[in-house]
Amino acid sequence: MTHKTVDWNELSRMGLIERINREIMHPIGLAVCREVESGISPGALVSEDGEWRYPEPAEVCPVTDEEGHRWTPSWEMPNRVFCSKCGKERV
Ligand SMILES: [Zn+2]
Repeated sequence: MTHKTVDWNELSRMGLIERINREIMHPIGLAVCREVESGISPGALVSEDGEWRYPEPAEVCPVTDEEGHRWTPSWEMPNRVFCSKCGKERV
């Protein structure tokens, strides 16, 4: 018998990585991360100063630019911003 599984990209789409990080991991200086390309998680990032800080919810509202990318700050990769539609990283 094989169990159905969801990868970390799917968990992210379900909003669960954000919840895990915000409610459990961030307060203790960890942040679950994932490799967007593979959907595999190498584990959790360790904060150098013991705490992760994120923008206030008002600042996290996704912004759609002229090319249609919907830029959303990453909950798993601090200070990095990705398009929630195509997965491209904003540089
Ligand atoms: Zn895009």
